[in-house]
Amino acid sequence: MGNVSDDHERTMAFADIALGQIKALRQAATPRNYEIWYAYATGYWPSLNQQINETLKHKGTLTDADLDDIYDQFLAPTRLTRRIENLGSRVRDEIDQVMAMIDAAAGSASSYTESLVDMTEKLGASKDREDLRAIVEGIVQTAKEMEATNHQLEARLNASKHEINELRARLEALHSESLTDPLTQLANRKFFDDMLQKSIAEARMHGQTLSLMMTDIDDFKVFNDKYGHLTGDQVLRLVAMTVKQNVKGQDVTARYGGEEFAVILPNTTLRSAITLADQIRRAVMAKELMKRSTGEHLGRITISVGVATLHKTDNAQSLIERADACLYAAKRQGRNRVICEIDPEMTSGFASAAPAA
Ligand code: GH3
Ligand code: MG
Ligand code: MG
Repeated sequence: MGNVSDDHERTMAFADIALGQIKALRQAATPRNYEIWYAYATGYWPSLNQQINETLKHKGTLTDADLDDIYDQFLAPTRLTRRIENLGSRVRDEIDQVMAMIDAAAGSASSYTESLVDMTEKLGASKDREDLRAIVEGIVQTAKEMEATNHQLEARLNASKHEINELRARLEALHSESLTDPLTQLANRKFFDDMLQKSIAEARMHGQTLSLMMTDIDDFKVFNDKYGHLTGDQVLRLVAMTVKQNVKGQDVTARYGGEEFAVILPNTTLRSAITLADQIRRAVMAKELMKRSTGEHLGRITISVGVATLHKTDNAQSLIERADACLYAAKRQGRNRVICEIDPEMTSGFASAAPAA
């Protein structure tokens, strides 16, 4: 949905804004600067816009270093890889340090053992009180040294434990960031693809049903054109939240594409999935939209939904295609509705096979 000339107009408008900013701030029209300002114009990265706005507010301009920093943080295709490499090298350093500590501990333990063995032998051969006293003092001294070394070792191990815990948390954050859509905080397409494969395998293994819901906001291009992309983004977040709030913990809600959300519904029959889809459709429609900054009423927004359920012969792609076909049928029928694979609109083409369980 949407057509080539709409996309042309929209992208040209972004390009104009991007070039306008480069001119106004008298910056070099390099591909990198253009990319930054184009991203700014789309408003798809709210934190990029926020950082640019704040820097402009403070300095009145953006230096090359500011632009480098913004590019690295938000746009550089290698930014996740670099963060992973950075973490990797810290993990390697930490492992080296712990290994060195283990070596040092093993070394000092064996030298203490040697000196204790040595003193035990001397103890056997000792002849008078003086001899004995010197040996006992030696043992006490060795024990003290051992205690001091142990303390040092303990402190360094504690520091390592702290560092490793922090690295682990960063690694987990990085991992979850790589699977999260930054705008809506829902799972991204990659996570969705992985989870759909897994969910299909699970459903097959346990002989359970599995349904899939694809939603798409109705006439969203018109909404964007009327109220601007930033407001459009807020509405996208609201719809994402509404979908998420209406599903259970085991269901996976993901941003499938621009303004399309997909929900994987494990252990859910087609009938239950339709009921849920309609509940979500109503919940979205019930929201009265208002622009927070101005209090302007923006009316309501609706979604269309396609629902399909796993068949014996399905793979992930064929299941998605069937749900998508239902979604397109919902659009053709007039939008703001749920169509499933056994509705009359669909039965001529699909849904002749029996559900898997
Ligand atoms: P339809 O009812 O047929 O779905 O009409 P539509 O205008 O919603 O058409 P389509 O689904 O093809 O259009 C997608 C539009 O959604 C294009 C674009 O303006 C908007 N869009 C996609 N991603 C984003 C986004 O991240 N932010 C904003 N604000 N808009 C987006
Ligand atoms: Mg749409
Ligand atoms: Mg769409």
